[in-house]
Amino acid sequence: MSPLTIAIVGAGPRGTGVLERLLARATDPDLHIHVIDPFPPGAGRIWRESQPSLLWMNSVADDVTMFTDDTTAVEGPVRPGPTLAEWVQANAEELGRDPELRDELREFTPGSFASRTLQSRYLSWVFDQATADDSARVTYHQGTVVDITGQGPQEISLDDGSVIGADIVVLAQGHPDSLPSERERALHDFAAGNGLTYVGPGYTADLDPDVVPADEPILVAGLGLAFIDWMVLLAESRGGTFARNTEGALTYSPSGREPLMYAGSRRGVPYHAKISYDIAAARPPLPKYFTADAFAGDGPLSFRDDIWPVASKEIAWAHYHRLFAAHPDRTSGTWADFESQFDALEWGSATLDQLVGTFVPGEEDRIDLDRLDRPLSGETFTGLDEVTQRLNAYIEDDLHRRSNPYFSYDAAVFSALLSVYMTVGELLRRGRIPAQSIATDIEGWLHSFFSFYASGPPPLRLEQLLALSRAGVVRFLGPEVSFTADAATGTFRASSTAHPDTVHADTLIDARLPVASISASGDALLRTLFARGEITEVRATADSAAKIAVDGRSRILDAEGVVHPLRYAIGPWVAGHTWSSAFPRPRTNAGFFRHNDSLASELLSAEVAAEIEQSSVAMAR
Ligand SMILES: Cc1cc2nc3c(=O)[nH]c(=O)nc-3n(C[C@H](O)[C@H](O)[C@H](O)COP(=O)(O)OP(=O)(O)OC[C@H]3O[C@@H](n4cnc5c(N)ncnc54)[C@H](O)[C@@H]3O)c2cc1C
Repeated sequence: MSPLTIAIVGAGPRGTGVLERLLARATDPDLHIHVIDPFPPGAGRIWRESQPSLLWMNSVADDVTMFTDDTTAVEGPVRPGPTLAEWVQANAEELGRDPELRDELREFTPGSFASRTLQSRYLSWVFDQATADDSARVTYHQGTVVDITGQGPQEISLDDGSVIGADIVVLAQGHPDSLPSERERALHDFAAGNGLTYVGPGYTADLDPDVVPADEPILVAGLGLAFIDWMVLLAESRGGTFARNTEGALTYSPSGREPLMYAGSRRGVPYHAKISYDIAAARPPLPKYFTADAFAGDGPLSFRDDIWPVASKEIAWAHYHRLFAAHPDRTSGTWADFESQFDALEWGSATLDQLVGTFVPGEEDRIDLDRLDRPLSGETFTGLDEVTQRLNAYIEDDLHRRSNPYFSYDAAVFSALLSVYMTVGELLRRGRIPAQSIATDIEGWLHSFFSFYASGPPPLRLEQLLALSRAGVVRFLGPEVSFTADAATGTFRASSTAHPDTVHADTLIDARLPVASISASGDALLRTLFARGEITEVRATADSAAKIAVDGRSRILDAEGVVHPLRYAIGPWVAGHTWSSAFPRPRTNAGFFRHNDSLASELLSAEVAAEIEQSSVAMAR
């Protein structure tokens, strides 16, 4: 038999992770692995170095690793290596010689939010490190795969016309973007017809901020992480500078090249800052009530009636558990008394509210999940000036609270949300959540609430936002904002239900990531395979994010549900795979490594070798 040849399409973190596991397990030095990506291997498209250096990660460097450790339950060899923080510290001198990184390196600590440029260097090094020995042959091809054909041996066509042969293909394409939706096409057409600028949803590294004019009002739809990137690209990246005044507050001096950003969203407030005190101590022992096994039977569940009440009780339990443990002076009675009664009561009942009222005298110490989700709910304003004042105060409060262990129940709620997220993932895998509910409750609400509460920007970014607002570079539009094309004036228009002011502008930015699609993917390979019925997509409803369908062994399913024995897909864009696309955290037995390792084991197995043999024989007949 000729040596095995594997092609990995996509050399971002996931493709690199699979490669590392294949090489760790390889026993035949003639194994040949082709890695194909138009962007540099290791970093790939999202983490490529060629993007503005002022953009940061939103994980701290200590929490990011690409290496297995002694907590990782893999059958393949554990190959330890440095976390991002350890690698930067070990190479600080050399990295610091680069003018792009010099300032960052001077202030770098393991708790820093590294720039994406620095993370790009780490990922490139990880790739080089993985391929440094001669456990197998690895060939990197800089190019985009546009088609894959072949019943037996796979023929992989690149955009430069070359064709690579392989026995097995692994698609690790990461973030499939989409062709513009109907709404986005209409906004593009409106912009083109009226001499305006519309920027649709996109990945930050692919954006061209130069299309946004300076010194005029623009509308920005969204206040999440994509907004934070836009804020950086349109202010500090254009030459403005931040400094601390004598009271320690951050101030902004504009360069004059910034636009005036009017920003709003449904919630009307930015994502909460990351918690900056040590949250490990506040981690409650979870799950307690909210486990997949707590739901009897195997029928469909109602998110609002069955799932969320138990999840809410779980989150509230975590909150009070921490309050009683860390701040007993702000409680009456003992935790044991509180907990035994809390256990027995139904979430949302008047008796539970009474119990909380008795044991937790301070109103600010009681959890209010609706308020956590919609902090401006029910508020009205006289106009934009009042909204901006309110938002400035809100951000100041958030910064104070997220750095103050007085509110350490916030960290417990963060942990509880992670736990809730895992259980919901398990209920999804067990098919207990109906499609419509996945679209509206999970994708349409829970993801957003989770990101808003638990996956926000570094605190310094919110300080910068506050400084930009005080300098008049950013103004807030309030909650429940609609952004429309106003045919009467030939401009874009923003209005909120919470105040009477409207804003018109010639530029509208949709500050969010594209809704993933396979059938209408921006990627020619996926569109072609889909058109031929060789892949299919799973989406809860017509408007929700799509994922590629695979079987339990990650083998791609065609439109008829038939497995392709030689084509695999892995990563967050794959149905049934873990939701989290975030980097693995060290010493957490991260699913990233376990999944990559079991795929590598499968690809190198005798069973797959037999499939390859069989397919070749079938072809030869
Ligand atoms: C803007 C942004 C910021 C993020 N910040 C963080 C963060 O701070 N911390 C964190 O933990 N996570 C973060 N994430 C999560 C991020 O998704 C993961 O960290 C990681 O990028 C996922 O890796 P991946 O390899 O699966 O996908 P990707 O990184 O998207 O890599 C997929 C690769 O496939 C290639 N590819 C696609 N199609 C083809 C084709 N047809 N032919 C050849 N190659 C192809 C692409 O060029 C790309 O390089 C962020 C994500 C985004 C979008």
